[in-house]
Amino acid sequence: MGPGAFPRNPLPPETGPGIRSRKRGNDKTVLTVNRRTFLATGTAAAASRAVLAAPMSIPIIDCHIHIFDTTRKQGVPWPEKKDTVLYKPALMDRYRKIALPLGIVGAIEVEASPWFDDNQWVLDIAAKDKLLVGTIGDLEPEKPEFRKQLDTFVRNKLFRGIRYGNLWGRDFTANIGKPEFIAGLKALADADLVMDSANPTPRLINDLLRVTDKVPSLRIVLDHLPRIEKPSKPAELKAYMSDLAELGKRRQVFAKVSGVARTVNGKVPDDYTFYKATIDEMWDIFGEDRLIYGSDWPNSDLWAEYPVELKIVRGYFEAKGRTAAEKYFWKNSLAAYKWIRREDNQPK
Ligand SMILES: [Zn+2]
Repeated sequence: MGPGAFPRNPLPPETGPGIRSRKRGNDKTVLTVNRRTFLATGTAAAASRAVLAAPMSIPIIDCHIHIFDTTRKQGVPWPEKKDTVLYKPALMDRYRKIALPLGIVGAIEVEASPWFDDNQWVLDIAAKDKLLVGTIGDLEPEKPEFRKQLDTFVRNKLFRGIRYGNLWGRDFTANIGKPEFIAGLKALADADLVMDSANPTPRLINDLLRVTDKVPSLRIVLDHLPRIEKPSKPAELKAYMSDLAELGKRRQVFAKVSGVARTVNGKVPDDYTFYKATIDEMWDIFGEDRLIYGSDWPNSDLWAEYPVELKIVRGYFEAKGRTAAEKYFWKNSLAAYKWIRREDNQPK
């Protein structure tokens, strides 16, 4: 499928602060990223890089990066050309320069395109780069061609699952009611693959709960929960917290402590204590065995540079002790994704 076959106004892979979603239009806490904010995080990044210079003795698997090439002839469905922060090639050479000095030894690529051919485009890159220990592709479980596509990709061990949720203009809530969608997710689970969710909202949390009811054998990874906008009405907030607590009881559901950094008055606090309450909530709900590290690079550049984001979560999990930090930075992701060890420095 080429660009022409794609709906004109897809939702981006992630709704960043500079990309106001329809629902968030009047939310004053959602700050627009401008060039000054972005440059200010550069200073913080240098400071964070210095703090991180003594690499943690724990190897890190980064479970959420995106790769795309804005210079390729067919273009990219995301990011948009007008995006001055993200619209440039995000390929492994650029990622390696940032990540390797910080102790990252492996990464999982998460789809950034609904074009079918891009599943293979990413796998071809992964074949040549052993820093990639897996990819999460983009297939639509409700489509008649899904089974055949799955049968093809499952042969490549680097293909670890698919992402689905609030993106690419799809209606996750409606699809859960379709038997063919649920059958597709069962096939995904039977292939021992994972479903990553996208762009958390209270409704998505409720949807995921329904999916775990219908397909209990499917491992699910919840992305970027710290970015959720909690309901302001007490009854809705209560329902959301109850759904999240129930999801937390389900052992096959993992959650990425990703997308944590926030801009406050033009600056990004890089001390984890600023974010402690947010991460504590996830810790209390999912526990130390089901929290996973993911940077969301390069989309994370909309909030802060990579070292700043890493410093925040590293500070939090180092304070929890070595065992918890090891689980967060690689052991839990091995359980969730069953990623493929390809280099001697990747843990086992
Ligand atoms: Zn992402």
